[in-house]
Amino acid sequence: MKYLLAAIFVFTAVYILYKYIFHPSLAHPELLQKPFPPMFRAFLQKRILYYQNLPDDRKQEFESRILKFLAEKNITGIDTEISDADRIMVASSAIIPLFAFPFYNYPRITEILIYPNSFDENFQTDNATEQRNILGMVGNGFMNGTVILSKPDLEAAFDGLRHKNNVGIHEFVHLIDSADGEADGIPEILFQHSFVFPWLKEIKREMNKIEKNHSDINPYALTNNAEFLAVVSEYFFDNPEKMKSRHPELYNDLVGIFKQYPEKRE
Ligand SMILES: [Zn+2]
Repeated sequence: MKYLLAAIFVFTAVYILYKYIFHPSLAHPELLQKPFPPMFRAFLQKRILYYQNLPDDRKQEFESRILKFLAEKNITGIDTEISDADRIMVASSAIIPLFAFPFYNYPRITEILIYPNSFDENFQTDNATEQRNILGMVGNGFMNGTVILSKPDLEAAFDGLRHKNNVGIHEFVHLIDSADGEADGIPEILFQHSFVFPWLKEIKREMNKIEKNHSDINPYALTNNAEFLAVVSEYFFDNPEKMKSRHPELYNDLVGIFKQYPEKRE
């Protein structure tokens, strides 16, 4: 009897390990059964500049990563209807910064909530505009495993134009940064240890320029190193050509961190 119980215990443990670590249960497995929908492709081509910059074979890889993300995660509108386009924008926000790391698919995140508007610290979306200053956030405490994004701000970030703001990329970069247990601007899952010191030096140098008004980087980057990383990543992925010409050192550091060149290459 003792052996039987032990055998059942071992079997259960192995089964749980297998199921949840090697084969996480999929929220929407049907998405992986079909070829990439042409409507999704048309949307990517029209609105996601990052995708437009990719060579053809990398576009295919991007598409399959989109489907994998959508199959694994739940994306839910709260008091707002969301479309496939919104879901593709969320998935793109997640995939862009990790495009060089195909095996990482945000294991801690199961749920992305889309709010009808920007919100305040009590998650209210119907106050006056000046009180609703949060466009997105990564949940902690009871909201652990959840990302919240404001729908109009997500849609504005992927309007097919170049800017320096992208709430989706901002929040997913926070997740990458905090995957090592600490949101500190040093995403250790992407980093060689020897790069930490030069990177901290670069953060300091650029923060000095922002403080003196000698930079076009959003001053919100001065909040702390984690916000610095999230803010400059928005710029890096949303307008890489401009960042490369205005901030070549910072641009090179971000190429080193994310292991990719997001600018258009012939
Ligand atoms: Zn932030």
